Amino acid sequence: MQFSSALLENAVNEFSKLPGIGRKTALRLVLHLLKQEEEDVQHFSEVVSRMRNEIKFCQRCHNVADADICSICANSMRKQDVICVVENIRDVIALESTQQFSGTYHVLGGVISPLDGVGPSQLNIDTLIHRVQKEEIREVIFALSPTIQGDTTIYYIQKKLNPGVRITTIARGIAFGGELEYADEMTLARSLQNRLPIESYVSNK
Ligand SMILES: [Zn+2]
Repeated sequence: MQFSSALLENAVNEFSKLPGIGRKTALRLVLHLLKQEEEDVQHFSEVVSRMRNEIKFCQRCHNVADADICSICANSMRKQDVICVVENIRDVIALESTQQFSGTYHVLGGVISPLDGVGPSQLNIDTLIHRVQKEEIREVIFALSPTIQGDTTIYYIQKKLNPGVRITTIARGIAFGGELEYADEMTLARSLQNRLPIESYVSNK
């Protein structure tokens, strides 16, 4: 790709660093911005920059937040004694879109995967165990991807949780494309309703 403007080329280079954006798409996006009003592009860049600079992670559940505690943890209408354990923030967004879950979340930041060098200490596991001990948690629901890594993570955590806590996993027999975020809302809502006690899940292995 030949550019007569280094400024344009720099912008294309930056956009093409984004996931799923090749250089052709990057060029299309940049040329689109070039056609917009200056103040609109200014606003666009300010929104992106503020998002990166000002966003926080909830001190309780590690979800994205605008304050120290996220809006889900701060909401007294939600069941604060039920925790749904997920891998990442996209999973929270997917589950929230179903409008079927009224508890709280705990974002692990991934799953245990020794081959990728991810051990328990790199994930938000200690804070989960601490949370279950400290708060009067009634149920912990695992909503992790149905992979060996997801299973390993469930197994590792459930051994460390208080015996009195109800532990369940979302129904994972039905295919939903591997990752929660790809599940359609109906499927995800159904698998949340049809969750299974951990005993039946682990003993079926
Ligand atoms: Zn939170």
